[in-house]
Order: sequence, then structure tokens, then C-alpha cells
Amino acid sequence: MTTNVTTVPAYAAPAANAPLERTTVPRRPVGEHDVLIEIKYAGICHSDIHQARNGWGEGIFPMVPGHEIAGIVAEVGPGVSRFQVGDRVGVGCFVDSCRECAYCLQGLEQYCVTGGTGTYNAVGTDGEPTYGGYSSHIVVDENYTLRIPEGISLDEAAPLLCAGITLYSPLAHWQAGPGKKVAIVGLGGLGHMGVKIAHALGAEVTVLSQSLKKQEDGLKLGADHYYATSDPATFTELAGTFDLVISTVSAPLDFNAYLGLVRTDGALVNVGAPEEPVSVNLFSLIGGRKTLAGSMIGSIAETQEMLDFCAEHGLGAEIEVIRAEQINEAYERVLASDVRYRFVIDAATI
Ligand SMILES: [Zn+2]
Ligand SMILES: [Zn+2]
Repeated sequence: MTTNVTTVPAYAAPAANAPLERTTVPRRPVGEHDVLIEIKYAGICHSDIHQARNGWGEGIFPMVPGHEIAGIVAEVGPGVSRFQVGDRVGVGCFVDSCRECAYCLQGLEQYCVTGGTGTYNAVGTDGEPTYGGYSSHIVVDENYTLRIPEGISLDEAAPLLCAGITLYSPLAHWQAGPGKKVAIVGLGGLGHMGVKIAHALGAEVTVLSQSLKKQEDGLKLGADHYYATSDPATFTELAGTFDLVISTVSAPLDFNAYLGLVRTDGALVNVGAPEEPVSVNLFSLIGGRKTLAGSMIGSIAETQEMLDFCAEHGLGAEIEVIRAEQINEAYERVLASDVRYRFVIDAATI
């Protein structure tokens, strides 16, 4: 099974906290149901930085991050039925799952009981480490490959594979749409997609950001209202307003204050997570039959639905395309919140 392994250029962190550098990594031979993808663009997600710096522990090094991948099919295995050479495709946060647990069978592979196989920093069913999108090529099972419709450019599509689906899934699950008031907490890589998608779904959208610094952007992206959370008046003025509040921030929030913004039967959903446990006064839930929830990316089917929705509405991410040698600099800028709103690596420069 390890014959014909191809070696491809990539950018990898050789060890935890070490700067990323150009190297090569092996890609498995194209199997029966695999597609070989020539990567065109790879987005830089905050979690890439977290993992490359071993923030969640147990990192596998060298590590090639990247789970916002857009490219073109360069070769297909003999059993591939869904794709042809030349197709525009994407790969998101996972490249496999057990395919037999209740969640996989239900089409919720992101919640596979085995945890599935991450696009990078994981071990595949072949026992080999997975390497992500900061690379020229990747081999992925067709069942975990997405189709990128015409109508979105590949560079603007790449961040949809993580940031886009991370926001689309809770917006769809909690039925954001006409007549619903939705608040997006934080206007970064995730939040800006939340604003675009919630607006396109027909909801009334409010951005809750620390300051009013990005207000003009927020309104341009589709927000109807914009408030600063550093102003305590925001929390009194908006008390009991929202059907759905989605928090994209990983800084510890005053959850009781944010639950106060949710109307009866509404939900506060977290897609960002502070590292430390938080304290919640359950009376803030009981008093309004409110839900405090979390949500993680989306299934393959839902990710396809999101890509089709975005293409139909002309939605892509707001991006800054960089060359591969700028990755380390870009990491520092992401940590300093100095990006509007996603860095995308031009894979031709890897
Ligand atoms: Zn991500
Ligand atoms: Zn499973």
C-alpha cells in the first residue's frame, strides 16, 4: 500500500512553536476512491496557529497545517464516481471518519464517535500522519471532498471550508432567517462569514464587537446594527432581543451578560471556546427557557449545501492573498487581529 508514495512540497512547523519552513511531505498513492487535488489556495485558520504552537497538546510534528483547501482535481482513482479531472474542489477540517457510528450514518460525520480523521495533525486509517493544505497537492477520499461551484473564486472559497461552515451550521440548525434577530459576537475570520451568511439567509443581523472600530466594515458585510460590548449600555439596550447569539470569540466572555441578550426560547451558541472553564448562573437559562450550546463545523452534506448557498448568493470570504514565505508573518498578524478577514496562501508559491 505504500508504493508510489509521492513527495510534495509543503510548509511545516518542524516542532511546537518553531516557525514554519519549506519542506516536503509524502502523499499516499491515489487509491480506488481517492482524488489527487492540485491545491490552489489554503486559508489560514486561527486553529492552525494554535496547533502549530501545540496549544491543545499532543501535536504531531512536523506539522503541515491547513484545513481550508481549494484546488483542482488532477487525478482520480478507478472507483471515483463523483469527480473528474479538472473539477473545482475543496477540503475542510476532516478527511475521513469511521463511516459506521450513529452520527456517520446520520450524516453528522463531524461528530463521529471516533473523532474522525483531521485533515492534519491526525493519523489516518493507514496509520500515517495526515498533512494539511499548506502544500502543493493532497490525496483525499472522494466522499470527504467538496465541490466548489462556479460563481465563487477559489481563493475566496477556501475559507468557507472552515470559517464558512462553522457559522453556516449553527445558523441553519437554529433556523436563522426572515423575522429572526441574530447577533454575531466578534467580527474576525469567523464572525465576518457569520454576518454575510445570516444576512443572506434573511435574518436581521447585529454585530457585537469589543469596539466600533470595524463598524463600517460590518455594515458593508450585511449587518443591520453594530454595537460595542465595551459599552455597558449595549447590554441594557439589547436585553432580551435576540433569537440567536453566536459567539465566535475564544476570549472568556461574561456568559450571564450575553445570555441576558437572548429572548425566551432563544439560544447562545459558541463556536469559539475559551481555554478555561466558564461560570454560568443557570437562572439566566431557566428564566427564559434559553439554550446555551456549542457547534462544531458541519457535515460533508451540510458543507456542500453551504458552498452551494454561498455560490448562489455570491458570497466568499474577505481575503488577503499571501505568498508562502509570508506565513509566519501572517500568523503574527492573525494573533494581533490585524487581518481583514482571512489570509489565504497562494499554493503556487509553496
Ligand atoms: Zn479552522
Ligand atoms: Zn463515525
